[in-house]
Amino acid sequence: MSAIDTGMPAGPSLEARAAYLDAVLGSLPGLRLLTDEVDRESYRRDETAYLEPPLPIGVALPTATAEVAELVRLAAIHRVPVVPRGAGTGLSGGAAGVDGGLTIAFTRMDRILEIDRADLVVVTQPGVVNADLKKAVAAEGLFYAPDPASYEMCTIGGNLGTNAGGLCCVKYGVTRDSVIGLEIVTADGSVVRLGGRTVKDVAGYGLIPLIVGSQGTLAIVTEATLRLRPAPPPKATLIAFFAALDDAGRAVAAVIDAGVEPCTLELMDRTTIRAVDDIHHLGLDLDAAAMLLIESDLPGAAAGIALETAARACDGAGATTTIIATDPQEADWLRQGRRMAFNAMEQLGVARMEDVGVPRGRVPDLLREIERIASDQGLTIATFGHVGDGNLHPNIILDRDEPDGAAKLKRATDALCIAAIELGGTVTAEHGIGISRRDFLERQRGAGAVALMRAIKDALDPLGILNPGKVLSER
Ligand SMILES: Cc1cc2nc3c(=O)[nH]c(=O)nc-3n(C[C@H](O)[C@H](O)[C@H](O)COP(=O)(O)OP(=O)(O)OC[C@H]3O[C@@H](n4cnc5c(N)ncnc54)[C@H](O)[C@@H]3O)c2cc1C
Repeated sequence: MSAIDTGMPAGPSLEARAAYLDAVLGSLPGLRLLTDEVDRESYRRDETAYLEPPLPIGVALPTATAEVAELVRLAAIHRVPVVPRGAGTGLSGGAAGVDGGLTIAFTRMDRILEIDRADLVVVTQPGVVNADLKKAVAAEGLFYAPDPASYEMCTIGGNLGTNAGGLCCVKYGVTRDSVIGLEIVTADGSVVRLGGRTVKDVAGYGLIPLIVGSQGTLAIVTEATLRLRPAPPPKATLIAFFAALDDAGRAVAAVIDAGVEPCTLELMDRTTIRAVDDIHHLGLDLDAAAMLLIESDLPGAAAGIALETAARACDGAGATTTIIATDPQEADWLRQGRRMAFNAMEQLGVARMEDVGVPRGRVPDLLREIERIASDQGLTIATFGHVGDGNLHPNIILDRDEPDGAAKLKRATDALCIAAIELGGTVTAEHGIGISRRDFLERQRGAGAVALMRAIKDALDPLGILNPGKVLSER
């Protein structure tokens, strides 16, 4: 399948690129800087395999904020773009290379600096893997909530870059809701601290929510202070199967309406159930059109009561089977199966994961729209996602040697984005605009809102060196 052009801006001259790399080597002799083509190649893309972004001119692996600041200060002098990067698991091209640009990979800034039980915060460098942070705070009896399905691979810096969601947002919110302090490097190489450790703080404009989710286009995060909670009790798990997608959609509304406050409310459709079961052999109902995974982390008997209420709501919406998992290991496998759904999709062919979101009440409409688009365009679209947030991931699956693949993908993703907007929703609930969805930003947000975004970008990055061509298209 041919790659999709990224429409990225042209980079600096060859002389400027060489002068920049020389300046970096001169000023930071201890820095690990990869310039071999083979090394750079592995930093060209994130998980958007369907894009063909430019190769970075180098990849810097700093270990300290001061090195990041110097890399950016020199980049401003030489007008060389810089791309911050975590683990490269992003699904919008955010960490993909830019023409003539240096990629700054944070994998070596991977220290947890402090866990403070009294203030209930963790202070961390951006390169720490989400699961490692969770494990470290869990050892202290504490809980860091945000849990993207990729949590065993993705980094805190990447999560801050995308404002990552995940499986427990339905109860605990997205990454932004857990951030109370940041250290950032701005576009001129200055180091600035935002926020602190106070739970409530309204001094001045809210810059943290602006930086979180800006995909490295407004500033680079070099340290974060994140909110913790006391560890919740182990989860209780329910699965419900449905003969029709529509029934599963109605069950979601019924569960919420019944007053259940799940910590996980996930959906998998028939193609996903079969692909996941094929790999993980979980004994799922392969004839079902949809499955819901519902969990509660309420204490003691309350979790069981919540799940029984949820099971009744599912039955009322037409569930064919509801099962409350009695074995924690079995529940773990089910959760892991859902987390690995995208990998299961990739076994079926080239998979492009979309990320549409709608108000919860419109979920059944969105599910119908996805089925209509698949049937109109003669495509396989496998859907799973965080249905409790109204956030679904339709995966368009194409044969690897599909001759007209790029055009088919574009038609299908355009149709999905338009459907989400028309249902009062969003073209991206958690993966970000990046490169993949730039064309729809103005259609969703409106010209006035995009003009404000451009004004902010111009104010914070007047030379346009921070991850250019991402989020906002070139004028
Ligand atoms: C199998 C799979 C499942 C996934 N499930 C989820 C999910 O449930 N929820 C979800 O939200 N996402 C999910 N994702 C997408 C992805 O994992 C998230 O977007 C994650 O936050 C990316 O983290 P990363 O470390 O890989 O960042 P990268 O992909 O390297 O970067 C992501 C963005 O953050 C920016 N960035 C990185 N570091 C910094 C920094 N220090 N300062 C400023 N900007 C920075 C980058 O420039 C880029 O724009 C999934 C991906 C896969 C492959």
